[in-house]
Amino acid sequence: MKKILVLNCGSSSVKYSLFEDKEFLFEGKMEKIGEPQSKIKNHDVAIELMLKQIIDSRKINSLSEIQAVGNRVVHGGEISKSCIINKKVINVIKRYSSLAPLHNPVNLKGILSIKKLLPKVPQVAVFDTAFHQTMPEKALVYPLSFDLYKKGIRKYGFHGTSHHYVAMEAAKIMKNKFQKLNLITCHLGNGCSITAIKKGKVVDTSMGFTVLEGLMMGTRAGDIDPGIVFHLMKTMSAKEVSDLLYRKSGLAGISGKGKDMRSILVGYKKKNKRCQLALEMFCYRIKKYIAAYIGVLGKVDGIVFTAGIGVNVPLIRKLSVNIGCLGIKIDQKRNRKNETIISTSKIKVMVIPTDEAKMIALETEKLVG
Ligand code: ADP
Repeated sequence: MKKILVLNCGSSSVKYSLFEDKEFLFEGKMEKIGEPQSKIKNHDVAIELMLKQIIDSRKINSLSEIQAVGNRVVHGGEISKSCIINKKVINVIKRYSSLAPLHNPVNLKGILSIKKLLPKVPQVAVFDTAFHQTMPEKALVYPLSFDLYKKGIRKYGFHGTSHHYVAMEAAKIMKNKFQKLNLITCHLGNGCSITAIKKGKVVDTSMGFTVLEGLMMGTRAGDIDPGIVFHLMKTMSAKEVSDLLYRKSGLAGISGKGKDMRSILVGYKKKNKRCQLALEMFCYRIKKYIAAYIGVLGKVDGIVFTAGIGVNVPLIRKLSVNIGCLGIKIDQKRNRKNETIISTSKIKVMVIPTDEAKMIALETEKLVG
């Protein structure tokens, strides 16, 4: 039986999953790549060990059963679809490395290792940015100088594979065609983003040129007045400000209890003021985006919550879609149980776990099948 191997290469880890006939078989992880005490000196070694682990798992008799490898690639610029990897695609991944320096170069390392070890197996790149590339210019151009847009300073959007997957699942749940539905998808994990989808095409998304824009996140600020940056730079270096915005802000910055929503919920229940504020801000900002995207879409059929926070925290869903005047009503009992459909209104509110690996496997199979 033919199998699809899905790879997600990070700077110090490689996560992989194996699929057969659209069904998940098993997954694994190689960690501590390149760390001083680690036996796994680099990504080539990690991928070699991974292939050995796959054989040892006995889920596969021989590596020749791997029909294709699907790679998660963070930045594909203007590319709007998953692609079979060739020289041109490798050049795109290289070109956008400067915009995703922590991801694209290591994603590419994985692709090149597989090319060395399994030279006959076709590889596919599934980009986090791709699903968003249907946005119209009025949504993706920043009101800066037009020259900067021509130089690539524009909204790209991220988490596209997740938004795409849960939107397709929502269509199945709603027993309707994906291309006929208007949806708002909220990916609330450590990183958070929200997307407006009109008849199957993204028309706007909250992350932008980088993953800093939009919703408040675990440690990232999301939308702020850019004037604050210049003010801070009178006493802080660019690196310190960047560190603040990426790593010390968001839920962690406000709560003082770290980025993990579970700790913030504990504080919230104990009436810790900063945890209460962090949670209220988090939901208030989601609510503002949802209301704005209802305006953008005109008519909305469904709102989806996904990722760690989205699927596990009823209180956050309740506070974020508390917009009765726009026709959204939640059934609190169903919400508390994390049921799939938690609304009683015409606008359906859904809780759908994301599965980026499966989406990558589906995209890969579509291209090589
Ligand atoms: P990532 O973006 O790293 O993939 P996840 O989708 O796993 O992250 O989401 C991580 C977030 O989800 C964390 O804030 C974590 O606290 C939160 N989370 C996960 N499970 C629960 C839970 N059962 N209750 C509350 N929060 C949860």
